[in-house]
Order: sequence, then structure tokens, then C-alpha cells
Amino acid sequence: MERNREQLAKIAPPPMAMLAEVTHRCPLACPYCSNPLELKAASQELTTEEWASVFQQAAELGVLHLHLSGGEPASRRDIVELIAAAEKADLYTNLITSGIGINEKRLDAMIDVGLKHIQLSIQGVDEKTADLVGGYKGGYKRKIQLAEWIGARSVPLTVNAVCHRTNMASIPDMIDLAIELGAGRLEIATVQFHGWAIENRSQLMPTREQVEATTQLVADARERLEGKLVIDYVPADYYATYPKACMGGWGRIGINVDPTGLVLPCHAAESIPSLNFENTRETSLHDIWYHSPSFNAFRGTDWMQEPCRSCERKTADFGGCRCQAMAIAGDATATDPACHKSPLKNRMIELAENAADTSEQLEFVYRGR
Ligand code: SF4
Ligand code: SF4
Repeated sequence: MERNREQLAKIAPPPMAMLAEVTHRCPLACPYCSNPLELKAASQELTTEEWASVFQQAAELGVLHLHLSGGEPASRRDIVELIAAAEKADLYTNLITSGIGINEKRLDAMIDVGLKHIQLSIQGVDEKTADLVGGYKGGYKRKIQLAEWIGARSVPLTVNAVCHRTNMASIPDMIDLAIELGAGRLEIATVQFHGWAIENRSQLMPTREQVEATTQLVADARERLEGKLVIDYVPADYYATYPKACMGGWGRIGINVDPTGLVLPCHAAESIPSLNFENTRETSLHDIWYHSPSFNAFRGTDWMQEPCRSCERKTADFGGCRCQAMAIAGDATATDPACHKSPLKNRMIELAENAADTSEQLEFVYRGR
């Protein structure tokens, strides 16, 4: 049955952003990588034409921002064609990259066909640390070189920095580095334990003291650098009072497409075993967004249990993260255990404190090594 705009708006607003994970291939091996343990093979990836169709459908659905991600999106030989296809669909395209696989010529080609913004991940503030964390020798030098080329072309640059127990002390240096590289924005995201990152939970989990100090440091830096550098901050929620409004609410703002065309309400949604996800190879993006059981599973508030059901914050944080509820409570409809009202909050704090115990020095566990 065809439904009109008003009827569709009652189901959900149109999505504003799409995260297109165009490949899982990546030259780096970050211990905090949130991609799944089982990566999708290159042979299963959507083709250039299939991605072009997805971008067109996304634009028709209302998407404005396209984030090309991975893995490393530049591992796709057709990355320039993909950006051109996004530009043709009138999407504002942002490339989220480790910087490996982009030389000056390729950067120019991407900008020429319509790339508007670049987010460059930096794994440490010096060569030794960055190359150790990224598991890629020579990576840091190439990132710094790429940032200089980007600066010379006046393309807006965001530096992405994942923070964890082993690097939180160097956040002031990361702020200085971002300014030095000409970034207009720095994203400091505390490590989230999804996918491969779970293998390194004990190596990466920050202590409560570190989290509190970082939150204060970021607040001070934001004030000091107003007008010079925008700092986005994703705080750790293990020790927090309230959970994050994960994804701005399930199926409300964003849509993720994995390398094989599987459409997910969030990056980690495949960790919820009761949900089946549809594929753009078989179903239109429009039908998936409005009518698929997976996107409708946690929309609105009817699915909530107590204490969320009668909580005044239920339309502010939407009960927190469904994947975290699944991982810790074993039930995706439970209150996010990060919330102080959750009966599992103490268990979550205990889990975090045990993982953050620094009495033993553990080495990073790298994917595939
Ligand atoms: S987190 Fe690191 S290893 Fe994972 S996709 Fe990003 S750059 Fe690659
Ligand atoms: S009880 Fe639920 S809705 Fe209320 S603050 Fe906690 S997670 Fe949010």
C-alpha cells in the first residue's frame, strides 16, 4: 500500500545521515576497532553501480550527509567513482579515513569530483605511539603528510581521536596537534566496546579518575579554544549517571549500510540476535527505513520496560544503547545498564573497574596477527 508523506512521518522522520561502510578492508589493525570479529569479504562488497543506486535512494529518502567509511574507504579502487556518484545524488560527502592509500593525485581526484570534508583518524601524538596503536609502521608520517595536503587545498578537516586508558594523558597534545594540522574540529571519542574492541577491553578501559579528568579537560579546552577549534566529545558512559541517546534514537536520524548492502539502524546492531536485517540488493532503502521490522523494533517508546517506560527522560535519551543493553543485560529491550536507574548499573561499574585494573601490563591484541 502506497502511503503519503503524512502517514510516513507518523512512522519516522526521514533520515538525515547515512554511514556507508564501503569495505571492511583496512591496512591498520587498531585494537579498539568496532568492526565485527568476522569481517565481510571483498568479494561480497556492493559494486560501484550498486553503491550509486544506494546513494540515489538515500537522497530521495531525505539523507543530506553521506559519511564514507569502512574499514578504510580508500581501499576501494573505485573510491573516486563512489564520491562522484554521491555528488551526482546531491549528497554532502565526508570521507572518514585512516589516511593510508591516499596520495596527492588521488586526493585531488576526490576533491575534483565533489568530496566536501575529510575526517582523519590519528592513533597517537607521536610516531612511535601512533604506529604501535594502529599496528602499521610508517602510518603516522603518512597521516601528517595527508593532513598537510588537505590544508593546502582548504578542504575542511576533522581529526578523529579515540581515547582509552593508554592515551588519555596525551589528550592536551592531541588538541595541540589538531590545531597544528589546521583541523577545524577534533572528535575525541572514548573507546566503545563493540566488535574487535571487546578483545582489548582490559587493555583499553579507562579508570574512573581518567574519565573525570578528561571530561574536565575537554570542558576547559572548549572554552579556551572557542572560535578556533570545535571539540566533539563522546564521554565514557560506564561511570556516568545517564546513558547516551545512542544514534539520536533508533531509526530516527541515521542509517548504516555495511559493505555487502545490509542496512542497519546502528553500526553494532548485528549483535542483537533477535533481529534480521534487510539488504539493499533485495529491498529498497525506503521500504527498509519505514517498514522493516528491524528499524521499527525500538522506535517510539512502546517497546520500553520499566524504569524507562515511566521515566521523564525517555524521549531525551530513548533508553540509551540497545546493543549495550543486549551485551550486559542479555536483553535488547532492557534499560541501558549505563543508566543509574538500571538494576545492572553496579554490575556495569564493577565490570569497568575490573577491566581498568592496571596491576597487570597487557599487550594489545591485533586482528589477524
Ligand atoms: S578503527 Fe582502525 S582498524 Fe578499524 S577500520 Fe578504523 S582505521 Fe581500520
Ligand atoms: S530510566 Fe531509561 S529513559 Fe530514564 S534515564 Fe534511564 S535509560 Fe533514560
